[in-house]
Amino acid sequence: MNDARTIDLNVLVRDNILHMRPYSSARSEFSGSAEVFLDANENFRDFLGDLGRNRYPDPLQRELKARISPMFGIPAEQLFLGNGSDEAIDLLFRAFVEPKEDAVYIMPPTYGVYSVFAHLNDAMIRSIPLDEDFMIDTQQLLSAAEEDRAHAKLLFICSPNNPTGNDIPLEVIEQLLQSFPGIVVVDEAYQDFSDQPSALTMLEQYENLVVLKTFSKAWGLANARLGMAFACESIIRVFNTIKYPYNISGPAQETVLAALDQEQSVRNEIRELKRERDLLAERLKELPYVQRVFPSSANFLLVRVSDAQRLYDELRGQGIIIRNRTHEPGCAGCVRITVGSHAEMQRLEQTMRSLEAIL
Ligand SMILES: *Cc1c(COP(=O)(O)O)cnc(C)c1O
Repeated sequence: MNDARTIDLNVLVRDNILHMRPYSSARSEFSGSAEVFLDANENFRDFLGDLGRNRYPDPLQRELKARISPMFGIPAEQLFLGNGSDEAIDLLFRAFVEPKEDAVYIMPPTYGVYSVFAHLNDAMIRSIPLDEDFMIDTQQLLSAAEEDRAHAKLLFICSPNNPTGNDIPLEVIEQLLQSFPGIVVVDEAYQDFSDQPSALTMLEQYENLVVLKTFSKAWGLANARLGMAFACESIIRVFNTIKYPYNISGPAQETVLAALDQEQSVRNEIRELKRERDLLAERLKELPYVQRVFPSSANFLLVRVSDAQRLYDELRGQGIIIRNRTHEPGCAGCVRITVGSHAEMQRLEQTMRSLEAIL
């Protein structure tokens, strides 16, 4: 497969947004050096010292983008930074989905935020469940989208998928990029933990591709709230038009800039964590009440046990919190366990072993 796709934003973007101009803040109208700033109604005093907390942050986060863009080999003009990936997910709805008319395609079991923002933005939800191996039923998906061609605006593919942990093969993603009528979003929150390459390799070819990444998982910065969206320049321009003017706080920008100096340690920790994950998977398989440990390309394991609620309650009683996913479609009897430190995994394993008698 070696096709390419271009998009016509005049057709895809909602009318009210197509003709919008971004809010022009003081900080975006003047950028340069000066000694006296009296343009933004800021306080001249920084009560915390001289951290610059009295000044508005760069609305386009140029310094941060200049550091992130070479790391992925994608031009800064094709990068949007959001208050978590959640902001980018919300903006996708606002930009492309006409409330009550347009549809988003979601494939459960998957990340719950897609449907939360779908409801918030009054989108029609087309739910195409993953099959028993948690793979996409491309035929069903594409024929449903074909019938609904004018309104099939968004498709969310989570790879590796949360909570199932499996990769969606790049060939499948490419097939959907070629045939889905609207925007194909690939959420790669966990891609750092996978052996499969990123969908970013297809960004140049497919203008209908949006790739989401985050600093919340592999980079250990869930607290800072920084997500990334990569797409063609014209989509990024739309995002920049409709985002909150100062969507990334100064402290968040500074925190991520500091973390970028630690890239090598982050890479090393990822390797360590993958080893810990695979070790834990092997150990859990030995427990009699564990029926299945699903293969994982992420930093968590989906585990099917004899009684998910009981396991959850017992672990909780011992001070260990996992996630019960038993009520998610296709996940009956399943819990999701995040991979923690070696010591935490030993404690988990010991505690789970001690439950053999009652589970
Ligand atoms: C954790 C997670 C994210 C990250 O969200 P942030 O808002 O960036 O913290 C995105 N997508 C999926 C599927 C996740 O599990």
